[in-house]
Amino acid sequence: MSLNIGQPNPYNNFINKNLISGNSDSKTEIISEDEKKEKSNLHDKKVNYGLTVLAGYLFYKEAKKIGGRITSKIISPLLFKKPVDISLEKVTDVAEKMIEKNKLREKGFKYNFISLSNSQQVEDDVVQTYRSFLNKLYENFKILPNNPEKNAKKINKAVNKFRLTMGVNILAVKNGKNAFFAPLLNYAVAPKTKPFFILHEVGHAITYKKLGIPGFLCLRMLPLLTTVSTIFISLIHKKKDVEEKSFLQKTGDFIKDHVGSFVFAGLSPIIIEEGLASKRALKSLKDSVEKPVFNSIRKKYRVALFSYIAGVLVAAGAAKFGIYAKDKLTQAD
Ligand SMILES: [Zn+2]
Repeated sequence: MSLNIGQPNPYNNFINKNLISGNSDSKTEIISEDEKKEKSNLHDKKVNYGLTVLAGYLFYKEAKKIGGRITSKIISPLLFKKPVDISLEKVTDVAEKMIEKNKLREKGFKYNFISLSNSQQVEDDVVQTYRSFLNKLYENFKILPNNPEKNAKKINKAVNKFRLTMGVNILAVKNGKNAFFAPLLNYAVAPKTKPFFILHEVGHAITYKKLGIPGFLCLRMLPLLTTVSTIFISLIHKKKDVEEKSFLQKTGDFIKDHVGSFVFAGLSPIIIEEGLASKRALKSLKDSVEKPVFNSIRKKYRVALFSYIAGVLVAAGAAKFGIYAKDKLTQAD
């Protein structure tokens, strides 16, 4: 099909992509002024809509951050202030039993207690473990480019970046405010002043060994991915006031209406896994310590679990808030 360029034609209101016959290399587009304006308005609308979606997401992130700070203010004193009367030796004893029973050493599991004097040493060890992990990754995965010099540079860069984030985490442990298990490194740390937290981390290591790297990552990553995608679907989706709704429209409406529940359900595997780690620790502790010590550790673990539940509730509420804020911003459209 061809049109006479320059002649008034009935297709004026359409963007016209005509190949001039005989010349397949040159394309001519005829766009009227009105069409240009319409196109640019549409573009502006899309950009504005994109910005409101982003704003909604930022509202969600900020609300989550504030909610997180409030809950941690409430929970931290319950979790960290009152000491538990259990010695480092006793905890180490129980931890070793858990490790032996579940053959964690065979898989390279390591743990450490952090005090004011050894934090740098532990940080170096964790960073070194990360370096070995990356080296192995580059050696074993032939898909990665085989350029030793370039790879060494990449590994160095990644290790330096890792040291920065790890430094912050180790500092929190050093100050007795955190304990963690790094799955890919199979490494757990707890403060020397609150050593019983290591048993919960060993509990994570057992789950990790049972599930393997892909299983454990799925357990941790999938909830986060589903949460973020649910939030984005709800942010992008516009509810329409029409009689006949398509299946896609109905699904979008449903996700948007129930985004809080979706986020809660999506994140609940994390709560289950946290509960399981504590359950494993308490099971090993039960026969090794006296009842009052066992009860006070159980109480701390319950508070820790509650902090995760509170975190998930905050995320669900923040998602609702972000979507509400974005819808308010687009109401003028
Ligand atoms: Zn945990």
